[in-house]
Amino acid sequence: MSENLQQYPILGQSVHLSSNYLGWLIDRLEQNIGTHVITMNSEMVMQANQSPSLASIIQKADLVVADGAGITLALRLNGIRQQRYAGIDLGSALLQVAGEQGNDCPVAFYGGKPAVLPKAVRFWQRKSPHLQIAIQHHGYIEAAEQEQLLAELQAQQPRIILVALGIPRQEVWISEHRHICPRSIWLGVGGSFDVWSGTKARAPEIIQKLNLEWLFRLAQEPSRWQRILVLPQFVLLAIQEWWQKRAK
Ligand code: UDP
Repeated sequence: MSENLQQYPILGQSVHLSSNYLGWLIDRLEQNIGTHVITMNSEMVMQANQSPSLASIIQKADLVVADGAGITLALRLNGIRQQRYAGIDLGSALLQVAGEQGNDCPVAFYGGKPAVLPKAVRFWQRKSPHLQIAIQHHGYIEAAEQEQLLAELQAQQPRIILVALGIPRQEVWISEHRHICPRSIWLGVGGSFDVWSGTKARAPEIIQKLNLEWLFRLAQEPSRWQRILVLPQFVLLAIQEWWQKRAK
C-alpha cells in the first residue's frame, strides 16, 4: 500500500492527501523504507515561504501530513475534505505500533528540556510496557553529546525516531542526519514531549474538534502570541489563492 500519495499545493508548499497516513507509514515500516515525515501546519507554510532551505526540506520529505486547522481549511476551500492528523497523534499511534512489536521495533526520543524528557519516557514506559526506547537524549546537548547521539543512532538503528526540537529546527536536523538510519521513520513532533511528560496540557477534544487548539496553546503559553499572528495572515492568503483560482 506504500504507493505514492497525491500531493496538493497550498500557498507554494505541498501536502500529501490520504485517509490513512498511519497505514501508509506502517507499510513503510514493514518494508524498511526510510521515511521523513513532516506534519505541516500553517505556521510552517509561512516559514517555508520565507526560507528556501526549509521549503526544499519539505519538498524532499517522503510524507507531508495535513496538520493544523489552517491547512484543512485551505484544502476545504478547494473542495478537498482531508482529515487533520496532528504530529502528537501520529507520534502516539506509531509508538503504540512499536510497543506491540517490542524488541523488534526499538525507538528513539530526541528533544525536550532535560527535566521533561525522562518524564515523557516514563509516561510511555507505563502506557506501553513492551515499548523499547533504545535511545533518549534531551534537546539541549552540546556538540560532543551530539556526536555521541549520532553514534548511538548509527549503532542501534532504531526503527522510529521522534525528534522534538520545534519547527524548523527538528526538520533541519532530520534532513541533515536521516542518512545515518536510512531505514527508519523520522518524525518531528514539536512540543509532544512536553504534553506526554505532563508539563503542558493538550487541548480538550472538543477544542481540537472546533479547530481551536491554537487558541488553547496561546492561553497556556502567552509568549506564543507573535507566532500565532501568522495564522490570520495564512487564512487571508489561502482565501486570496482560492479566489484567484476561481477567477481563472
Ligand atoms: N527544544 C529543544 N531544543 C531546543 C529548542 C527547543 O529540545 O534547542 C524543545 C522544547 O523544549 C520543546 C520543543 O522543542 O519541547 C518545541 O516545542 P513547541 O511547542 O514550540 O513546538 P512547535 O510548535 O515549534 O512544533
